[in-house]
Amino acid sequence: GLPPIDVDIKTTCPYCGVGCGVIAKADQQGTVSVRGDPNHPANFGRLCSKGSALAETLGAEGRALYPEVHGQRASWDAALDLVAQRFKDTIDAHGPDSVAFYLSGQLLTEDYYVANKLMKGFIGSANIDTNSRLCMASSVAGHRRAFGADTVPACYEDLELADLVVLVGSNMAWCHPVLYQRLAAAKAARPAMKVVVIDPRRTATSDIADLHLAIRADGDLALFNGLLVYLAETGAIDETYVSNYTSGLPEALAAASHASLAELCEATGVSAILLRRFFRLFGETQKVVTCYSQGVNQSCVGTDKVNAILNCHLATGRIGCPGMGPLSLTGQPNAMGGREVGGLANMLAAHMALENPVHREHVQRFWNAPVIAHKAGLKAVDMFEAVADGRIKAIWIMSTNPVVSMPDADAVKAALQTCPFVVVSDIQKDTDTARLAHVLLPASGWGEKSGTVTNTERRISRQRSFLALPGEARADWWQLAEVAKRMGFRAHFNYSGPSDVYAEHAALSAFENDGERDFDIGAHAGIDTEAYDALLPFQWPLRQDGSSTARFFADGGFFTPDRKARFVPVTAPALEEASEWHPLTLNTGRIRDHWHTMTRTGKSARLSAHIAEPFCEIHPADADKAGIGDADLVNVEGANGRSIIVRALLTERQMPGSVFVPMHWTGETAPSARVDTLVSSRADPISGQPALKMSRVSVTRH
Ligand code: SF4
Repeated sequence: GLPPIDVDIKTTCPYCGVGCGVIAKADQQGTVSVRGDPNHPANFGRLCSKGSALAETLGAEGRALYPEVHGQRASWDAALDLVAQRFKDTIDAHGPDSVAFYLSGQLLTEDYYVANKLMKGFIGSANIDTNSRLCMASSVAGHRRAFGADTVPACYEDLELADLVVLVGSNMAWCHPVLYQRLAAAKAARPAMKVVVIDPRRTATSDIADLHLAIRADGDLALFNGLLVYLAETGAIDETYVSNYTSGLPEALAAASHASLAELCEATGVSAILLRRFFRLFGETQKVVTCYSQGVNQSCVGTDKVNAILNCHLATGRIGCPGMGPLSLTGQPNAMGGREVGGLANMLAAHMALENPVHREHVQRFWNAPVIAHKAGLKAVDMFEAVADGRIKAIWIMSTNPVVSMPDADAVKAALQTCPFVVVSDIQKDTDTARLAHVLLPASGWGEKSGTVTNTERRISRQRSFLALPGEARADWWQLAEVAKRMGFRAHFNYSGPSDVYAEHAALSAFENDGERDFDIGAHAGIDTEAYDALLPFQWPLRQDGSSTARFFADGGFFTPDRKARFVPVTAPALEEASEWHPLTLNTGRIRDHWHTMTRTGKSARLSAHIAEPFCEIHPADADKAGIGDADLVNVEGANGRSIIVRALLTERQMPGSVFVPMHWTGETAPSARVDTLVSSRADPISGQPALKMSRVSVTRH
């Protein structure tokens, strides 16, 4: 139908995992205005700089408006026929594992659902991974090891109810700004509340911290192991909780007990005085929330770091009660929704496990699918290596720009250049990745597409369209369903709209689920379009009887076979040897006003004005050694020999021995500043998440 004019449309911000509610309106002239939704439980009307500038990032500039085949305009029929035929031919000749989908936490849950169904149930491979692998895969793996499912046990309100909030590897002030505003407001109203920031950098988030631990990169594993031992030695263990609802504490303690205080100081880079102060604060405070983000996840030991944190909350029984619990801060707007439908190479659908034959049988029967993937597919880093060595011969990339965002990004570019068939669905025509596409499919963007997203606290909200689709752009779920039909699966992909997809997803979540699986939105099975359009934000689970759960695990009920949580024994990694040639540790991350590779936020002059160009934050002592002055241009060279040129920013907020470079600038906006070309592709062996915050580099004057 025609887009609504001058009507308030309730939708959700497409940037970070806070998932703020937005009220958007387009007038007769097409001018869009946005404001925060005062009734949305994530933000109660607040928006950050990125959310409030959403209207400035719309418009036709740079958009992909029609399908292209080999750079030439093509009809949808011709493009879709070609995609279906090439995927089918490749599978026939080389088997299902010769094709892959690489998706994005920007996709809506309905898009993800259709992609996952096509790949795992009809193609028969699990080669479907996503840029969420770069964002929260370690949290998923840690949750599954400890809880038996990828369950986030806490909610946003807990931040406001806590007496101590510990922020680990999170620049919440810039990366989850509205959540930070909620925390800052709660602390202002209740000054006795304490905030501890654990981060190698003294970021804007530290401004409200009572204690900042400038930790060595990856020192957090040793820190939380040390905390677990301290809790045991000072009688802070909740013996009743531990004996009723958990197993494995002695083994976890044995693994954690190796370090002396001096060794702990060495491993963490934190003084004994500050360590003791943190341990005492944690030990003595009952209402503790520990939030963790990419500083924990983006590491070779990310999963172990997550479990070291979960161990401390399980040991004290501080989980699932108001103001208590671990809370993984999801980076992307719909990384959670993607997890729910199994949009990762090692998950199935509705939080069922790919490795579980009973779950595989459930899903195959529900889908009435001819096959079901029976082994994990290739995770992001491995997937692009398989493209490079020819095992993957056809890949469909949706809504993401891996030529900029993947580690060792030039190797990803080279891999795609040699891949026999690359399909890219994107809203922008000229991204670094779209330029390598044999087939480019124009996708619908924020304001044009409809569906659902899930935020960090398990809250599902609608994104609603209020703008006409530009040119011939189409929704991602539609593109996937059309290709599935052309591959011979018409009867299984006959969706008339996103509400059909959501209704099926909801039915699958409840299918033969007697409460033994965490994810359940069965109350919405078979939902009609009208009810779907009227959907208010809600937290899952939402079971068929209408009951929901804001918090998990206060009284056990974990999703393991014996319903007990698992302590996971983890040991701190050895300190890395200093490298003569690449003596500095490179940390990459976001700045306040840009998102990912800037394909949207780069359109806003206001957002671009906050920090106008890429930079390298370096401690004055390191700069001095290299003869670098403030604002000098510098070469940052990685261990792979590749280098970028950015401006030096001398700051004591940066720890000596490490530098920080933002990840947003692309080949288009700053060809010399694609920092992920330097980043090593080393990944956590359990989660497959790349260590995007710990590459070796040297910095010299340009
Ligand atoms: Fe959007 Fe995140 Fe800002 Fe909320 S905090 S307005 S979701 S970018």
